[in-house]
Amino acid sequence: MKSSSALIVVGLVLCSSWARAEATGPGPEVSAEKQFVLDWLSEPAVTERFGAISDAIWRFAELGLQEFQSCALLIKNLEEEGFRVEKGLAGMPTCFVASYGSGKPVIGILAEYDALPTLSQKAGVSHHDPVVEGGPGHGCGHNRMGSAATAAAIAVKRCLEKHHLEGTIKLFGSPAEETLISRPYMVRAGLFEGVDAVINNHAASEFATDYGVKGTAMYSVVFTFTGKTAHSGSSPWSGRSALDAVEIMNVATNYLREHLHFTCRMHYTIVEGGEAPNVVPDRASVWYYLRSTDEQIEAMYQRVLNCAKGAALATDTELAKVRCLGAIHQSHHNKTLAELFQENIKLVGMPKWTDEEQVFAKAFQKGLGQSSPKGMPEDVNKLKGPDAVFTGGASSDHGDVTLIAPTATIRFPGLVPGAIGHHWSSVAVNCGSAASRGLNAGAQAMAASAVDLLTRPDVLRKARQEFATYSKTHPYKSFLPADATPPLELNKSLMEKYRPLLAEQEAAGSP
Ligand SMILES: [Zn+2]
Repeated sequence: MKSSSALIVVGLVLCSSWARAEATGPGPEVSAEKQFVLDWLSEPAVTERFGAISDAIWRFAELGLQEFQSCALLIKNLEEEGFRVEKGLAGMPTCFVASYGSGKPVIGILAEYDALPTLSQKAGVSHHDPVVEGGPGHGCGHNRMGSAATAAAIAVKRCLEKHHLEGTIKLFGSPAEETLISRPYMVRAGLFEGVDAVINNHAASEFATDYGVKGTAMYSVVFTFTGKTAHSGSSPWSGRSALDAVEIMNVATNYLREHLHFTCRMHYTIVEGGEAPNVVPDRASVWYYLRSTDEQIEAMYQRVLNCAKGAALATDTELAKVRCLGAIHQSHHNKTLAELFQENIKLVGMPKWTDEEQVFAKAFQKGLGQSSPKGMPEDVNKLKGPDAVFTGGASSDHGDVTLIAPTATIRFPGLVPGAIGHHWSSVAVNCGSAASRGLNAGAQAMAASAVDLLTRPDVLRKARQEFATYSKTHPYKSFLPADATPPLELNKSLMEKYRPLLAEQEAAGSP
């Protein structure tokens, strides 16, 4: 009985490995160096360590440029491993670069760790249930990204040491990605000088990479008008309403919208508009995001600026300040790097989700209203090229880095498919076991790719040649105005309000 069931098991194992070879073909040779990072990251204690770091950053839920605890936790882990960490760079207290090793090549990995406002949500719950009402939450998985990137950098450092390799690994701690702020300032400060290739990453439900131009370039600009207060009832003719200027500017841009190039998008929120109707507002501000292609964005900005000037003229107010918070490029992903990343994504493979994770994923999807929930994905994606048609979409400030050094992005799994980006449902599943398992797979693909770039000079040379050719037609020019500085005050008061409330909940054991 025993031996026949053993035979069946052996038969099944042989069958499945044969099927795997049939389906995927023989895999690439795995070097001893690469195997080392894969093995180290697969150790249960290591998986647990970085899962715990990710969950801690999830609980801190710190908004852009206020990521003090998140940043400190990553830096502590890197310093304990012997990285040299330069802190408070490019005018941002939560920006850092951690380096290990010496000489060429220099391989960079990008790390993000900021949360989004208003998305607070308990983990593993498929209905809206905030940890702190109105508080911030990790609705884009940047908690997992900072942790995965750190895990990968540490794995590579251990490999450099163990195999006595030449070269340097650099982790770029990049604050405030959600408001698209840090990277142009980091480029301007020269932090990427001498970096040969960059590995970007993003948390997702899929395991994927791509090449070509992606996303939109973006200007983030606050227009502030000033006027004159007056009694709104007894002498409104003495007042000049700054809020009127904001409203007229918005009417003008909404008429403009039809006559902008089809690649343009714009959205705004009024961030100051007076405090009571009986006082004519003497100060009002509107915050715009303008998005388009690298080619269209500057002209679009000039036309929106004209709407602001026209509104000031019409209302006899002043356009007192035009503050550019961030200005970024589209992402130009390097094909050679994406092909390398794809090799490693296939090598690492989709994580084996546990039965509990699959049961939870299906229940969660059902809770979100899916009629036939499919659970967690089983296969990695195929390599994707550029989109045939421009579809606009989101922006990422790593776009500027893609024009400074060959860069591509690894999108790693762990999010339950169907969870909505920048929404409480994503916050609910960016913490916990599947989230950790996915980030570990991402760390493995990043570390394996970094090791390839350190040990396969032919691949790095090809990536750099492709980049040099592309740069001839796409030379880097920052969209940031020369006098722009990082808006350190942006989320200060929000975090001052929510940090103690989040800490209280954490102390009480929630979520
Ligand atoms: Zn994101």
